[in-house]
Amino acid sequence: MENNETKVIRTHPNRSEFREHSTPLYLTSSFTFETAEQGRALFADELEGNIYSRFSNPNTSEFIDKMCLLEGAEDGFAFATGMAAVFSGFGAILQSGDHILASRSVFGSSHQLLTKVLSKWGITHTYADAARPEEWEALIQPNTKLIFIETPSNPQLELIDLEWLGNLKKKHNLILSVDNCFATPYLQTPISYGADLVIHSATKFIDGQGRVLGGIIVGRQDLIDEIRFFARHTGPALSPFNAWILSKSLETLPVRMDRHCQSALTLAEFLDNHPELESVLYPFLPSHPQYELAKKQMKQGGGIVTFVVKGGYARAHQFMDALQIASKTANLGDTRTTVTHPASTTHSKLTESERTAVGISDGLIRISVGLENVNDLIADIDQALVATKA
Ligand SMILES: *Cc1c(COP(=O)(O)O)cnc(C)c1O
Repeated sequence: MENNETKVIRTHPNRSEFREHSTPLYLTSSFTFETAEQGRALFADELEGNIYSRFSNPNTSEFIDKMCLLEGAEDGFAFATGMAAVFSGFGAILQSGDHILASRSVFGSSHQLLTKVLSKWGITHTYADAARPEEWEALIQPNTKLIFIETPSNPQLELIDLEWLGNLKKKHNLILSVDNCFATPYLQTPISYGADLVIHSATKFIDGQGRVLGGIIVGRQDLIDEIRFFARHTGPALSPFNAWILSKSLETLPVRMDRHCQSALTLAEFLDNHPELESVLYPFLPSHPQYELAKKQMKQGGGIVTFVVKGGYARAHQFMDALQIASKTANLGDTRTTVTHPASTTHSKLTESERTAVGISDGLIRISVGLENVNDLIADIDQALVATKA
């Protein structure tokens, strides 16, 4: 049996009469019916096939098929953005009166969704701390329907034990939904631990080149059927053009992730005990509080390194402005190294006490390690730290 990485590279929709090697772009809003009867049968779900690109499109289907192979999922649906995927994952499955148990350290917009949008529709949530798993079971309510987590979390790189959580969700018959954006299926596959749904912002490591937005949910067939119904009629579909890009990107995911992870580990080892830093976090650094768990459930440590500079908010901004290679931008998972100050950007909408609760201090810097030569990155970060010494 071929390895899934091989299958992903060899996946291709039916070739056209032109015998093209690379998948063509299917930029079409709709698909024709050979007969009126065929149109009726397609709409009645008696035939499988494309009708309209809000429902499905060959480029989108190729991307979904590849992601299902990588995550070990039955089916999936692709979205215009990661947030459209996160939102649709809640909207399709939950109803007024339902409760979500979520890990506290979730992506900024997911936090806004939980606290300001779903709450309007009578869907409540409770946050649980990744560092205190012993508290989770007591937070499950009679109306809890879904557990939503990120591991590793953004930007604190906190891990949640997927094997433990898979058992907890089974015991209470809950739906487990994992935002697997930071790890990618190359480093960890939550479905193998019992997750029902896996969500990605494909904008990040899946594109990996900072070009397009995209999102996807893959998972259990019955849940994907509900999500597909919801998406088909609410319209968050991924564009075929972006699907074409993302599908091609998946063919290089393993080689890109190997390099991201290698360089991130090398950088983290250099920064560990750096005199200008208060702390450094990287899952595969032995000083990470969950190092053993990281080794157990992740193939490598991922492409993100987080550290706290001495001197707080002002020093963090000075440090960023002194960098000569790394880009100041909110995105991550690019070929180019990017640097973010969460307290003033991605997490600025959180109150100070909410930020403290998820461990985002004023001096915290998030580096998404790109594919540049790692010695150049180390030299750039080191010179910016030295240049901004108090
Ligand atoms: C970026 C991100 C999202 C949102 O994805 P978009 O494609 O920007 O909508 C969701 N979750 C995580 C962990 C992310 O990093």
